[in-house]
Amino acid sequence: MANTERSKANWFMAKKLLPRIHAKLGTEADCKQRALTAIASQSEIYCQRSECGHKNAIPVPVVRAFKCEKCRKEISLTAKTYFHGVQKFKPRLIIMELQERGITLSANQLSKLIGVSTDTISKALKSIAIAALMEIETEAISIPTAFCTNAVGRRTNRTPSNEPPIAEEFDYQRQMQPSSPNINKVTLPGLTKEEELVFTKLSKHPMSFDELFEATKLGASSLGASLMTLELKGCLERRVGDQFVIAESSPISITLYEYDSEHEKSIGQTLVNSIKDFFQSIGRKNLQLYSVLDWINNDKKRWTQGSLLKLCASSRQITYEEILEYVTPLAFFVVPKFNPPKKEELA
Ligand SMILES: [Zn+2]
Repeated sequence: MANTERSKANWFMAKKLLPRIHAKLGTEADCKQRALTAIASQSEIYCQRSECGHKNAIPVPVVRAFKCEKCRKEISLTAKTYFHGVQKFKPRLIIMELQERGITLSANQLSKLIGVSTDTISKALKSIAIAALMEIETEAISIPTAFCTNAVGRRTNRTPSNEPPIAEEFDYQRQMQPSSPNINKVTLPGLTKEEELVFTKLSKHPMSFDELFEATKLGASSLGASLMTLELKGCLERRVGDQFVIAESSPISITLYEYDSEHEKSIGQTLVNSIKDFFQSIGRKNLQLYSVLDWINNDKKRWTQGSLLKLCASSRQITYEEILEYVTPLAFFVVPKFNPPKKEELA
């Protein structure tokens, strides 16, 4: 659990707010009704059987399932919506309330606060982020993941085995290199041609001086000098027996982008700082989702109270597989400027 001042302040606020949120949301049955009412805001639903397709008025009070007026087969109000198959509505609604109040908590903290598993929490958070992805596109700018790799420190199902979490980024960059139009192979910053050549030959698998000599076709003294400079720059690690690997915390990634502006770097850094403060580090593939959650937490003009339930009520179903398989693209969306919450809105 992150233990920074910001994280502690949010935890304190959440604990203080929780009784008020419980009072507002009521029982699990109240929460279910609240969600169903949000879904039913369109007031009519078509029969889901294609042979029938009859337009039914949604009954009041709203129920999750009722019979089609024409064919008498069951119509499920939540089928294929965000709330498809949801067992407990209240934990999700509490999470939305906290998000809308700009309170950022880790999955562990939320789990402790709400009393459901971190897995359930993380699923709920990520599904909100995926649902809101369509929204962020209109407000955000796209920046390279390479600007945010400092926030990457957790293994995911995409992290190559026996390699550090950051290897996921390198792996993804390598895979995407030929196809993505955003990416250009350009000179790595601050490296000479020789150093760049050596760097691109390095990997997580240790290579000997002789192997690198063979791979780069550089002269021995030039190779030796490049290896020494790369080591000094923190780009490579020298292992026992003069074996060389890419450093885990290498400041330079394999691929660079056409754009390399200071503005985008500072936007990336702001996101990295937030992630470090609240979550310590995250998996590379989730960068985009954390960026969306950060936006929801901080843009109080866009994400007013009740707006997340409205978003989710109109969202399609987001499956567990989709959440697991989600991968942040090489360039992802970050909102550069938030409308900060007013003090009274937090209360
Ligand atoms: Zn029908």
